[in-house]
Amino acid sequence: MVEDGKKSLATIPEDTTEQVANRVLILDDEPGILEVLSQHLVGAGYECTSTTSPDRALDLLRNERFALLLTDLRMPEMDGLEVVRRARDIDPELSIVVVSALTEVTQAIQCMRLGAEDYVLKPFNLQDISRSVSRAVEKQRAVTETHEYQERLRQRVEVAAQELERVNQELRETKQYLENLLESTVDGIITIGKDETIEFANGGALAMVGYRKETLLGLPIARLLAGGEDEFLNIQRLLNQYDYLKNYETEILAHSGGHVPVNISFSRVDDARGEFASTLAICKDITEQKRLEQELMEMSVKDALTGLYNQRSFFERLENEVERAKRQKRPLSLLLFDIDKFKQYNDTRGHLEGDKVLRGAGNAVLECTREHVDIGFRYGGDEFTVILPEAEEPQAFVIAERIRETFRKYRFDELSLSIGCVSYREGFTVRSFIEKADALMYEAKRAGGNQVCRPAAHVEAPK
Ligand code: GH3
Ligand code: MG
Repeated sequence: MVEDGKKSLATIPEDTTEQVANRVLILDDEPGILEVLSQHLVGAGYECTSTTSPDRALDLLRNERFALLLTDLRMPEMDGLEVVRRARDIDPELSIVVVSALTEVTQAIQCMRLGAEDYVLKPFNLQDISRSVSRAVEKQRAVTETHEYQERLRQRVEVAAQELERVNQELRETKQYLENLLESTVDGIITIGKDETIEFANGGALAMVGYRKETLLGLPIARLLAGGEDEFLNIQRLLNQYDYLKNYETEILAHSGGHVPVNISFSRVDDARGEFASTLAICKDITEQKRLEQELMEMSVKDALTGLYNQRSFFERLENEVERAKRQKRPLSLLLFDIDKFKQYNDTRGHLEGDKVLRGAGNAVLECTREHVDIGFRYGGDEFTVILPEAEEPQAFVIAERIRETFRKYRFDELSLSIGCVSYREGFTVRSFIEKADALMYEAKRAGGNQVCRPAAHVEAPK
């Protein structure tokens, strides 16, 4: 015995519309009527299953799909009305046609209320049966087709929804990956919106400027540039011309107030419609590079042993100072000195000891001159020069004396300095200026060394 149970759409076996559409289940307690109906409907092209038992009919409905139940109303085992009720319960889609005697019209109408499609009055003629069955089956076919169409549609929607979810997931993953990519670079990445404020900054940028993300986003970019708005206007002008700007060096104003030297590459970013959306700035912190450059620059202008500037920078600097003194009619003095009898000291004590003496001379210069104003140079060997801007000769003489005494105090045996001291006068060239200082230094040596020589009261400019 098949378990009693409702047949829902989902549990209905998956017959195709064509297979189900012509299946008719005929229920009548009279085997003779069954025979007639069955033969007639088979002849009309239907696949018929017949039974005289209502229970058997209901079992069949539970296990197979039929397009139509053609049932008698009056049966000894079970009232036709009950059969219709249960059949409808098992398969809500089933078409039902009842065959009833004239005396049972009321029940037939009740059956229609329960969802039967039609009723045929007894005694029936087979044409009526055919017409009714055909109508019910057609209706059933339409219903089944609609259901199948709905099911196909539902499946298609489901597939499309799954595809959409997959694409969304892919997009989310790509977005996350791109974000990770931006975050993983140590360079600072910033985008600047049309309103010239920062709209995106990665971790590298935040670390570089020392701002919190909330503060940085929305900040005008000009606030970060050492050159402020003017500088950004210039950057925009260049970007309008070239679309991108590579290796732009500037300084960024960090939150701490410090300046961070950076190398920035700017480029314009368009949106999906090809319209300008933002400016991308990739910033490299070049603090270390700048420090090395500075070190190199210092090395090229400084003397490694004494830490004073070297001869090459002396000429450059003196030329500039002479030009300035001439133009602005400001005083300018020059000292040139040499260590007396250094060669002998060097030869007896050795080169390393000699180096200490040269460093001592350099120290004496630094100790006795004005920082950021006067500049000391190692002129070569044991010769040194000092440029004294804004110093008249008497003042320069005092400084020269101080250097001479300080060096003596260092007590490198009896070593001493011979110093020539001269101030710039009209008609001097750079060369004659140096020659004059040199001549005075030799004058000091000739006079026994350990002294400062300056020009006699009225010195003519050398020819
Ligand atoms: P004067 O009194 O006439 O100046 O005689 P001097 O002995 O000082 O002779 P001079 O100035 O001609 O000699 C300079 C010496 O300085 C010669 C050289 O050995 C030495 N010297 C030059 N450069 C260096 C250096 O870098 N280190 C050391 N230790 N000695 C140097
Ligand atoms: Mg010497």
